[in-house]
Amino acid sequence: MLDLLNEIADAAAANPDKGDVAAYIPELAGVDPDHFGISVALADGAVFTAGDADVPFSVQSVSKVFALALALGRVGDQLWYRVGREPSGLAFDSILLLEREDGIPRNPFINAGALVTTDTYLAGSSPREALGELVRFIRAAADDDSIHINEKVAQSELATGHRNFSLAHYLASHGNLRSSVDKVLGTYCHQCAIEMTCKQLAMAGRFLVDADEMPPLVATERRRRINALMMTCGHYDGSGDFAFRVGLPGKSGVGGAILAISPGRASIAVWSPGLNRYGNSKLGTEAMETFARRTGWSVFG
Ligand code: GLN
Repeated sequence: MLDLLNEIADAAAANPDKGDVAAYIPELAGVDPDHFGISVALADGAVFTAGDADVPFSVQSVSKVFALALALGRVGDQLWYRVGREPSGLAFDSILLLEREDGIPRNPFINAGALVTTDTYLAGSSPREALGELVRFIRAAADDDSIHINEKVAQSELATGHRNFSLAHYLASHGNLRSSVDKVLGTYCHQCAIEMTCKQLAMAGRFLVDADEMPPLVATERRRRINALMMTCGHYDGSGDFAFRVGLPGKSGVGGAILAISPGRASIAVWSPGLNRYGNSKLGTEAMETFARRTGWSVFG
C-alpha cells in the first residue's frame, strides 16, 4: 500500500498539468498548486500516507458529507421534502433548476442543497452551537480533537459569496429556509472553512466505511444512502465521469480535496489544489483513478 501511494504522489509531482486553483474565494487563491497528499485509512484503523498528507487544507464541499449526516440525524427522512436526490448535471453553484423546480434543490451536495442541509442542522440552535456539533461529529469520526475552522477562509468567502447569497435568497423566497439568509450563509461558510489534513480526512471518512473497529456514528441504511448520493452527486456535473473512472463513492471540494469510500475496506483522502473544469481536483481525480485501478477496489464488482 505504501509503495503504491508513494508512486501516485511521485507521478503527481512530475505532472506539469495541475489544473487551476479556485480563485473565487480570495483566501484560497494563494494556495500552492504543487501540494499533493494522499492518505488511506483502512477499516481496522491502519493509516498509510504519502506526500503532503499532514498539511492542512480547506475541506470546502467535502464538509457537505458530514453536514448531511448531521442534518439526517436531526430530522431523518423529513429532509427529503426540502431537497432531492438526483444529480443536477449542472455546476455546483448553479441557480438554473431552482426556478424551474420551485426552490427544491436537486441534491444535498450542490450548493443550493447544501444550504438547505445547513439550515436543517442549524434549526433551533445558534450558529456557534450548530458548528460546534458539526466539528464534534468530525472530531469523533477522525478521533482527533485538533480539527478546527479557519476563520480567515470563512470571512473571505462570506465577503465575496454573492452566488451563495443569491441561492439562499432564492431558497428563502420559496419558503425553503427556516433561518435568515445571513445566519445560514454564516454557518455554511464556516462549515466549508473546516481544515483537515489528508490523514485526518481519511480517518473521518471511516464513518462511511462500515468499520467494525469504530463505534457506528450513523446507522447502516443511512451510511449506504450517503454513499449512494456521493456516487451520483458528489462531483456535480463530473459525477458520472468520476463513477466511470474511479468506481467508488466520492465527494470533492474546491479546496482540492476528494474523499472516496471503499465500503467495508477503507476511506481514501487525496488533496491537490488545482481543479478541472467541473471544480473537482484534477490530479486528485487522476490519483483516485490510479488507486482504484491498482487496488481493484470498485463498488461495481
Ligand atoms: N464554499 C464553496 C462554495 O460554496 C464550496 C464549493 C465547493 O467546494 N464545490 O462555493
